[in-house]
Amino acid sequence: MAGILSAIKLREAGYDDFTVYEKADSLGGTWRDNTYPGLSCDVPSHLYSYSFALTPEWSHRFAPGREILEYFQHVAREHDVERCVRFGDELIRCELLDGRWHLETAHGHHDDVDVVIAATGVLHHPRFPDIPGLDDFAGAVFHSARWEHDVALDGARVGIVGTGSTAVQITSALVDRVARLTLFQRTAQWIMPQENPEYSDEQKASFREHPEELRRAHDQLSEAFSIFARAIVDADSPEMHMIEDACRANLESSVRDPELRERLRPDYRAACKRLIISPDFYDAIQRPNAELVTEKIVGVEPAGVRTADGRLHELDVLVLATGFRADAFMRPMVIVGRDGISLDDVWAKRPSAYLSICIPGFPNLFMLNGPNGPVGNFSLIEVAELQVAYILQLVARLRSGECREIGATHEAMARFEAERTEAATKTVWATGCQSWYLDDRGIPAAWPWSFDRFRELMREPDPAAFECTGGER
Ligand code: NAP
Repeated sequence: MAGILSAIKLREAGYDDFTVYEKADSLGGTWRDNTYPGLSCDVPSHLYSYSFALTPEWSHRFAPGREILEYFQHVAREHDVERCVRFGDELIRCELLDGRWHLETAHGHHDDVDVVIAATGVLHHPRFPDIPGLDDFAGAVFHSARWEHDVALDGARVGIVGTGSTAVQITSALVDRVARLTLFQRTAQWIMPQENPEYSDEQKASFREHPEELRRAHDQLSEAFSIFARAIVDADSPEMHMIEDACRANLESSVRDPELRERLRPDYRAACKRLIISPDFYDAIQRPNAELVTEKIVGVEPAGVRTADGRLHELDVLVLATGFRADAFMRPMVIVGRDGISLDDVWAKRPSAYLSICIPGFPNLFMLNGPNGPVGNFSLIEVAELQVAYILQLVARLRSGECREIGATHEAMARFEAERTEAATKTVWATGCQSWYLDDRGIPAAWPWSFDRFRELMREPDPAAFECTGGER
């Protein structure tokens, strides 16, 4: 998403000498890698679209993953992005030497460039659970982001580990296909109910005829999500309480068996973990062939999963919906900045970046959806669009010949870190739960302010926060 965007915006700004490095053989990022049953985006599609490529054709309010992948590939084709992409070769090293970034790929290709934009995504590297005996399982076992489509599901006994957004979508999609579905829940989740209506032919025709309606739909959703963003960064806001009430009412009204209801009831506040949006998860888990297992997993055996109560849950397929290594970002790529300092050393404790974009000591390297940015129940497309516009203003200073290297200062970074960690304590993510939003200290790493503030700060770089060094090339 962000790489395609960068290519389009760079060309629009008059740059024609750029390359997009893509380690896979096709475009699509997370929507290419994730192909699990039930995959969809829980950000409404008319918001989860490039603002310059709104489409009247979305089939549903929350379009399925396949449709989103086709959308990105279509936009890339329309903007002739593919001819700038070097496919099937992974970038493994970027080193700053004499004011230029020297790039090296896994296939031994070398390039020298002035600027690097890391559009490598947030949740990319699967996190595999450390469960004893996983390799001994006689059936098929795979991570949700590496779905094995040749494994038969119809009539199979399927186990799913995890209860995040992914596991919830898989559960709803699979329960009516499989003989038995066993969901292994370590932590219960709050579920926000949201219907997913189809757009009628008339609605789509109307969007086609009146592009201003399409724009209005996008802008209204963007505003609604800004309100949500204001709520989560102020744990005591009335909006936050409304969200909690809606989740609680959903649990109370949807789950009939009081014992099951209590096992599904989280012991932390709604939206502390990323809020899960689902119209039908509670229905799915109450089907006669579904079972919620809350006993701790102690190991995997050839026949299935053993829980702490001694029970063996016999399975044919085991899906690990156990999330991603959210602190990896562009790593394992080796990145060496000024004075031979490596990013791995700078990020040894935890990743951080000034305004989620720049790392002091790594000039002319900019991130899209980097650490400390607005993540969560948002459109990361909107985030990336604002960031690209900001980065292009920095790159314009290089193009003008004002300097050869531009990067955030250590002072700007330190100030941002101090303000960010202070603000993080007031967010709902810090109200007592475990989640991928938290860093090694338990401090939320995500943007702790409103989305309006992010928009405001992305308007133009603060010149005092940057050092622009070196003369004309
Ligand atoms: P996740 O939210 O990190 O959830 C991972 C799940 O696996 C959690 O329930 C976790 O339990 C469980 N788990 C991990 N290790 C385990 C272990 N050793 N034993 C038992 N359980 C274990 O991952 P995800 O569901 O893939 O979602 C990640 C993020 O991707 C989401 O938060 C969201 O941002 C994004 N996403 C978005 C959509 C969308 O529709 N837009 C869809 C899917 C994913 P604990 O809670 O106890 O840690």
